[in-house]
Amino acid sequence: MKQTKRPLELHSWAFPKGDDPLYEDYREHVGPFYMTPWEVFAITFRDFSVKPGELTVISWTLPQTQATKADNRRETFYPSERWARARIFGEQVNEKLRKHVVATLESNGYQAVAPILTPQFSTRISPKYGLASTWSERHAAYASGLGTFGLCDGLITPVGKAMRTGSVVARIDVPLTKRPYSDHREYCLFFTEGICGKCISRCPVGAITEEGKDKPTCYNHLFPTTKDYVTSEYGFDGYGCGLCQTGVPCESKIPKKEDAEALNV
Ligand code: SF4
Ligand code: SF4
Repeated sequence: MKQTKRPLELHSWAFPKGDDPLYEDYREHVGPFYMTPWEVFAITFRDFSVKPGELTVISWTLPQTQATKADNRRETFYPSERWARARIFGEQVNEKLRKHVVATLESNGYQAVAPILTPQFSTRISPKYGLASTWSERHAAYASGLGTFGLCDGLITPVGKAMRTGSVVARIDVPLTKRPYSDHREYCLFFTEGICGKCISRCPVGAITEEGKDKPTCYNHLFPTTKDYVTSEYGFDGYGCGLCQTGVPCESKIPKKEDAEALNV
């Protein structure tokens, strides 16, 4: 049965085009395994005639709740239970949201796919950055105009850095969202004002320095340290940290100088 296309209403989300040159830049920097929106779409639908410009990346952010942030703010080594639960079960909700967006688009006659739910999504080793994925939700959100990167590598958005993000690639024509920034570190006080660095002291294992984040050090804290802790103390199979996302000036907003001063940094 031929599906008819109906206009969709999507609020407060962001839409870069599939032919945004940033995606080729990502691949150049991260490695040849990094997928462009075109690749994800063409491989999924076996349609190699689709033009990158016919595709739109739909990207969103889901802020952590006030209670989750407040709990994790108090922690100094392990994640709070709420944070660990949000990391696992909140992400399951995010996964359902991806599927829901895809299903909604498809039921309205638009082909769509969530890159990180495809068989092509995996973790690889980038010659430049070490551990890296074939698709990055944070980089899709950056391309969409939703935020810029902080010293700790997290994405600072208008709802802050304590959030989760997701994306879907669709063959749909919607008005492009303009990026309200010109630099990938524009919202981080360390790069703009030469102040802050609060995420450095929040990290319990010294993974963040003025040079940025050391991914293996962070990873080794998550696994097995936080995984063992979450299993034994909270009673479920999970992990998490997010200390560098909470108790920092960029936790819940794009920070200003005063926000750093308020935290004595
Ligand atoms: S805590 Fe400060 S230095 Fe770290 S990412 Fe946020 S604004 Fe940048
Ligand atoms: S997630 Fe935790 S271990 Fe990793 S950089 Fe942030 S504070 Fe450090």
